[in-house]
Amino acid sequence: MISNIAAQIKHITQELPSGSRLVAVSKYHPDESIMEAYDAGQRLFGENHVQEMVGKYERLPKDIEWHFLGHLQTNKIKYIVPFVSLIHAIDSYKLLTEIDKHAAKAGRTINCLLQLHIAREETKFGFSFEECREMLRVGDWRSLHHIHLSGVMGMATNTDDSVQVASEFRSLKSFFDELKTDYFDTDPHFKEMSMGMTHDYQIALDCGSTLVRIGTKIFGERDYSQKI
Ligand SMILES: *Cc1c(COP(=O)(O)O)cnc(C)c1O
Repeated sequence: MISNIAAQIKHITQELPSGSRLVAVSKYHPDESIMEAYDAGQRLFGENHVQEMVGKYERLPKDIEWHFLGHLQTNKIKYIVPFVSLIHAIDSYKLLTEIDKHAAKAGRTINCLLQLHIAREETKFGFSFEECREMLRVGDWRSLHHIHLSGVMGMATNTDDSVQVASEFRSLKSFFDELKTDYFDTDPHFKEMSMGMTHDYQIALDCGSTLVRIGTKIFGERDYSQKI
């Protein structure tokens, strides 16, 4: 019997436009669930706790591509630097410099996305458009040779109002276009727009998302009592 996880992976990947990829968000889900997705062909997974991601990296097949999605504390960067393929949520210049430092030591160059605050909610992490423009304008980031700025990431307001959600995603898309034109015109690395989760990924795809981060729809509800 084909498992529900495999069926969801197939269903979602079939509806992705070319140029967009699925990040299967496996936080709080056990290795066996990841392996069900893996056996259905999924190779890209997202986690948002350092220890959990490191453990899964060590135990699971080495051709899995790991994306780090959550807020990253500087003292934990060193644990993921050896293997992480994309860090989605850069929300300060300081974090970028710390990643660069550790990546240099590890002999790697790490892809990073700038997280923008696009939601109405106050609590979400991320740069404002103005803060982000200012950071890029100042230009110190150009001396960081062990990171690639690979695009932007954002989370829409958690609401059923799809008009609101679409307008937030569109604002991120136009901000991406602005940065691409102003700073990354000739840089092929700057190409990703990470937006869309279980409840809003279809809207995000309509607005140009290249990376949808989907957990619940694939793996079911997370069991937060379970420490992995
Ligand atoms: C958990 C998480 C997701 C996945 O959320 P679902 O609603 O389960 O699809 C996506 N993005 C980030 C940053 C997350 O932390």
